[in-house]
Amino acid sequence: MFDAFHFDNAFLRELPGDPEAGARLRQVEAAAWSRVDPTAVAAPRLIAHSREMAASLGLDEDDVRSPQFAQVFGGNAVLDGMQPWAANYGGHQFGHWAGQLGDGRAISLCETIDGRGGRWELQLKGAGSTPYSRSADGRAVLRSSIREFLCSEAMHHLGVPTTRALSLVATGETVVRDMFYDGHPKPEPGAIVCRVAPSFLRFGNFELPTSRGDVELLRQLADFCIWRDFPELLAGHRGAPFDSLRKDGLFNEALYGEWFAQVCERTAVTVAHWMRVGFVHGVLNTDNMSILGLTIDYGPYGWIDDYDPDWTPNTTDAQGRRYRFGWQPKIAHWNLVRLAHALSPLFTSVEPLQAGLQRFEDAYAAADRDGIARKLGLAECRDADVGLIRDLHALLRDAEVDMTLFFRALADVDPVRPGLEPMSDAFYDEAKRQASAPAFDAWLQRYGQRLGDDVLSAQARRERMNVANPRYVLRNYLAQQAIDRAEAGDEAGIGELLEVMRRPYDDQPGREAFARKRPDWARDRAGCSMLSCSS
Ligand code: AMP
Ligand code: MG
Repeated sequence: MFDAFHFDNAFLRELPGDPEAGARLRQVEAAAWSRVDPTAVAAPRLIAHSREMAASLGLDEDDVRSPQFAQVFGGNAVLDGMQPWAANYGGHQFGHWAGQLGDGRAISLCETIDGRGGRWELQLKGAGSTPYSRSADGRAVLRSSIREFLCSEAMHHLGVPTTRALSLVATGETVVRDMFYDGHPKPEPGAIVCRVAPSFLRFGNFELPTSRGDVELLRQLADFCIWRDFPELLAGHRGAPFDSLRKDGLFNEALYGEWFAQVCERTAVTVAHWMRVGFVHGVLNTDNMSILGLTIDYGPYGWIDDYDPDWTPNTTDAQGRRYRFGWQPKIAHWNLVRLAHALSPLFTSVEPLQAGLQRFEDAYAAADRDGIARKLGLAECRDADVGLIRDLHALLRDAEVDMTLFFRALADVDPVRPGLEPMSDAFYDEAKRQASAPAFDAWLQRYGQRLGDDVLSAQARRERMNVANPRYVLRNYLAQQAIDRAEAGDEAGIGELLEVMRRPYDDQPGREAFARKRPDWARDRAGCSMLSCSS
């Protein structure tokens, strides 16, 4: 049982920890983590798991189906070699410094090394309170856990860098939540997701020590992160013990600069993916920004149905809509500026940090252009093509057109006689379709001409487009349908959805229902278009 695990809890071993263990609420100074065990639940029961993630960890189906699995990943048992902890970090929330935040409802169990040498940290979300739980309970409700579980894996299969999800376990307990913070709390079923990533370090891990003037801890964290999470930056010294590399003075300003630039580049690439697939994170606070550039912390996220750069699913952000779809690149940059400030004590000049931020701009522009070329089926993106897609975006927004359906169908347009027919299903409003048809026809003429001037064959173009424009995304209403069914006792919808999302770029005969545009009933329904941070 679980002999696949090879524990190597480097974060705990190499970085200073809180001398106090347990969940008593406190400010934790000069420490990267606090030891705290999951709180046992009444009746842990496995609802779903990701077979790909299990396989990556070396777990077979028997391991996953064993009663012990639900015990461990429901927080009722800790295996020998696991040393559960909560990480200490701060963050900027909605543009304001929020001080110490930390893992308030996440408890990491261990780091384990897989058969190919890859490192995975296993973390339970919703396993009980920690020193960082502030006023909340450290638990998570089933609906949010289903959303995190499904979306982590859906994003992975879409090719978007993301934290992963191993398992979804029901706790057999209820959790009281006020879903819209409007004075209507009610008990809801509880659940725990085991999420998995090579590292859960966030920008906020570096911001907190700097905010307290603790340069020593900041330096330890930076060195550790380079050593553990960016070994490619240590060419020639890979595999050497952390301590000895520090003693040898390997971590210097040049290395910090290259590291920061890498973080900027990875962040840019991930955000460009979000824009390509129509994903809105919803809460891009700096504590939700992964140092590895992974999509992390699936809360009130959403998927674009009709193309609207101003849309956010997060009702908590309804006023300023800071985290709207179209602002994600500039918000990511803003967050990287916060990280640059946090790292500034490690530098004697600002130039490497400025160079890193420039790397974000350059990498984003390159990734954006790559996305344009792939979405439009062009061998390369020329300057004029940027204008071509911007004009299309304006049309899609004005005419209320489904982003996923439109781009997927674009591969079926005949370049010689381009017309709107393949996309006719993508419109939400018939009057707007008719009114915008001439403008779309004019755009399609330009597009057809551009295709005529491209080197790709018709076949190559289609193939290129169909691996960039997904057929299936985890539309908000689809997740909500699975949630409604699960809350009524039928959990099969979760597995069905996971199965479809495993191959988002393939046409899957018989599963057309999962590729339809949002139905009218879902337009303004809670969970489908409106979500809050209450989870
Ligand atoms: P989030 O908005 O999910 O990124 O959470 C922001 C902060 O609030 C993090 O420090 C979380 O750990 C904490 N938090 C959110 N929900 C809970 C909860 N139910 N119990 C304890 N802490 C929570
Ligand atoms: Mg968070």
